[in-house]
Parts: sequence; structure tokens; C-alpha cells
Amino acid sequence: MFSRPLRDLTHTVGFRLTLWYSGMFILSMSMLFGLIYLILSASLKQQDHEMIQSRLRELSTVYAQGGVEALEREVSGEKKFKKRNAFLVRVADSGNRTVFLILPYQWADFDFKVLEEKSFDGWFKLFSRTGKDVLEVASSPLAFRYTLQVGKSTEDREKVLRNFLRIFVAALIPLVLLGFVGGIFLSYRSLRPIRQLTETVRSISSGRMDARAPMLRSRDELGDLVILFNSMVEKIERLIRAMRESLDNVAHDLRTPMTRMRGIAEMALRSDGDVEASREALADCLEESDRILKMLNTLMDISEAESGTMTLELREVKVRDVMKKVMDLYGYVAEEKELHIETRCPEDLSFVVDPLRIGQALANLLDNAVKYSPWGGNVEVTAEQKGDGVLIAVKDAGIGMGPGELPRIWDRLYRADQSRSQKGLGLGLSLVKAIVEAHKGEVGVSSEPGKGSVFTLYLPLHASSDAL
Ligand code: ADP
Repeated sequence: MFSRPLRDLTHTVGFRLTLWYSGMFILSMSMLFGLIYLILSASLKQQDHEMIQSRLRELSTVYAQGGVEALEREVSGEKKFKKRNAFLVRVADSGNRTVFLILPYQWADFDFKVLEEKSFDGWFKLFSRTGKDVLEVASSPLAFRYTLQVGKSTEDREKVLRNFLRIFVAALIPLVLLGFVGGIFLSYRSLRPIRQLTETVRSISSGRMDARAPMLRSRDELGDLVILFNSMVEKIERLIRAMRESLDNVAHDLRTPMTRMRGIAEMALRSDGDVEASREALADCLEESDRILKMLNTLMDISEAESGTMTLELREVKVRDVMKKVMDLYGYVAEEKELHIETRCPEDLSFVVDPLRIGQALANLLDNAVKYSPWGGNVEVTAEQKGDGVLIAVKDAGIGMGPGELPRIWDRLYRADQSRSQKGLGLGLSLVKAIVEAHKGEVGVSSEPGKGSVFTLYLPLHASSDAL
């Protein structure tokens, strides 16, 4: 029945909002009008009744002073002097026969004989033959069982009320139209950010990950939503890029040992049953598969630590003890390279950590410091309390790194070009960062090419329980 664009419009939130607003507007305006109408009508009625009653009192006094003649004189005198004579005045005798009746000419349509046919007390209404006009009449007993009746038409007040109704309708129609058009315009404008967000989501789902919703000038709820949405998309894009890169890196780094293993196996098969050559090939394969396994295990450890599923065996340990265990492990490598390792740590400084994991992180840092230091260099490992945490620093005077490399060294499988000559998987620092952050700590680095590097781990004295 409706054309498509119209159907689309009627299905919009904006249209529904406008309908609601207009409906509420018309309802509240009508209620307000109804109330004003009732108050106005009641006060006009009261005013009419007061006028009738005051006229009734006046004429009763005239009657009391001079009887029916004086009353007749008073009422017809008014007529003569063209005083506004809007009152019906009737005097009836004890048998309800009209003694005299004054009627303003415009009430000719009323059948006043009714007044004689029935006796009325107090207030009553008299309807015209057409039923459209109404006379309100008040009765009051006079001396000698006479009755005085004074009435007034409700026409004046109905005219006022009719005018009021006409003005209201005349004002309401353009107001409702204006409200409806204004409502559509306002809701169209205020829902624009939502439409832009929808457009952006559509673009993103069609593969354009760089699409962003236009920022709003206003910092209202929608403005905040757009900022949050954009930063969320930014984060997702960064994560996807990082995941893609690390998948590429893993594939790339797996290809080398796998190709090597395949080559070794092929060579062994071609060796025509030479047992020694086969044994050697198997040993080489074992070494390569160990390397692959180590890489995969470290990757899994990093993922576990980053996702918070790594089980941390938290307990209170002395920082010095953790450091000593690592030193013992690396002492002989340092000796081989004639390195001098100096350690400094307060005797009673302790923290609540998983000592194995923190030891692993410290070992990775020390491994790098040894690896990237020249022969006979110096390495310093220090620990001190800083605020509510322990700051561990590993300083070397090795090859160092340029500012361009620093942000990338924490990425999985990243290895700087100058370190390719050294053994390594490019996973050591990623694991350090993941372990420290699982302890709610922070990692830091400062380095200068050719001068050396300082890696720092800041660990809270008490790792929070949600790290568990
Ligand atoms: P790798 O197994 O290659 O050492 P890491 O994740 O431990 O992997 O380190 C990533 C890269 O950071 C290294 O390849 C190296 O380029 C750089 N790096 C780490 N530690 C040092 C250091 N002490 N001195 C200089 N470069 C370092």
C-alpha cells in the first residue's frame, strides 16, 4: 500500500520518536486546554449566577418597598432608558399565574408557558424550542405568596467558550504541524551519528578495517560513543595486525627448522643404511624438533600470561634469592665470555611473586645482556624498593638499540638485524613482558646503540590475587 521510501521512513526510529513526541504534545496540549476550558466555564457560570442572584436581591428589595407596581416600574423604567436589559423577570402569584413578565426580545424562541404549567423552586433551566439556547433561572419567594423569577441566557458565556475553542483549534493545527516537521528534522539530525556509525560498521564488515566514524563536535553521549567506538576499532585493528604479523612470523620461523629437518631426513634415507649417518640424522632431527617445541611452548606461555590464564604460584620470596638462582645459572656463560656481573640487592627485600616465572623473566634479560655484550664487558643486576614495588634493573654495555627498534622488541618473534648472528627465537622479551604484566607489573627499557641498554622490571610488593 505504501511506497518503499515511505515504508522505510515509517520504520525509522526518528519517525517513531517524532510520532511519540507529537502524540504526547497533542495530548498534553489537549489536557491543558481541557483544564483551562473547565476553569473558564466554571468561573463564567459562577459570574452569571452571581449576576442573577444580585438582580434577584435588588428586585426583591424593590418589591418589599413598593409591591408589584414598584417592581414593574423599575423593570420597565430600565427598558425605557435603554438600559441593558438582559434579564428575564417574572412575578407569579400564589397560583403560579404570571403577574408580569419581562422578556428581552432575543428570547422569543422560548416557550414561557411552561413557567405556568409547572412550579419551579430555586435554580432551574429553560430550554428553547430548538434546544440550542438555555436560560438559567433563579426563583425567590416574595410576600403574599408571590414568586419572583430572574433568568439570564447562557448565550454570552457559550459564545466566549466557543471562541476559546476556535482559537485553540486554530493555534493547535499549525503548532502540531510545526512540532511534527520540527520533530522529524531534530530526530533526523540527532540520529545522524548513529547512521554514520552504522555506515562505518557496514564498511568495516565489508573489509575496510580503516573506516572510522566522523568525530562529533559535541561531547554528549553520542560523542562519547563515537570516541569509544573509534578507539575500540583502532584497538581491534592493531590486535588483528599484531596477530597476523605474529602468525606470519611463526610460519616463517617454523619453515626454517622444518626444512632443515626434512633435508636431514632425506640425506639419511639416501645414506644407504649407514647406521652412523642415520643416528646422526636422528640426533639432528631431535635437536631441531626441540627447538620447534621450545618455540611453540614459549608462544603458548606468552598467550597464557597475556590472556590471564597462566597459573601463578604466588608466594613471598626474597628478591636476593631469586636473583642468586639466576646468577648461578648464568655464571659459567658469563665466565666463558669473560664478563663481569655485579649484583646489588638489599638483604631483606622480599616480594610476593611466582618465583619460577619471575626467575624465568630475569633469566631472559640476563641471557640477552650476556648475548649482546662484548667480550670482557660489564653487566649490572640491581634490585631496590621503589614505592609499593621492587625495581629490578639489568644493565649492560653491549651493542644497544636505536630508538626505531625499541617499541618493537617486545613483539613476538621480533629480532633486530644486528642480533641475527646470535642464537635466539625473538620470544624472550615478549615472555618477560607477559609474565611481568600478569603480576600487574611494568617493563621498561632505555638503550643507546653502541653504548648499552638498561632493562627494568617493576613488580608490586604484593601481586594482586586476580593475577592468579
Ligand atoms: P632474542 O632471542 O632475539 O634475544 P628477545 O625477545 O629476547 O629475542 O629480544 C628481541 C630483540 O631485542 C633481540 O633480537 C635484540 O635485537 C634486542 N635486544 C634484546 N636485549 C638486548 C640487549 N640487552 N642489547 C641489545 N639488544 C637487545
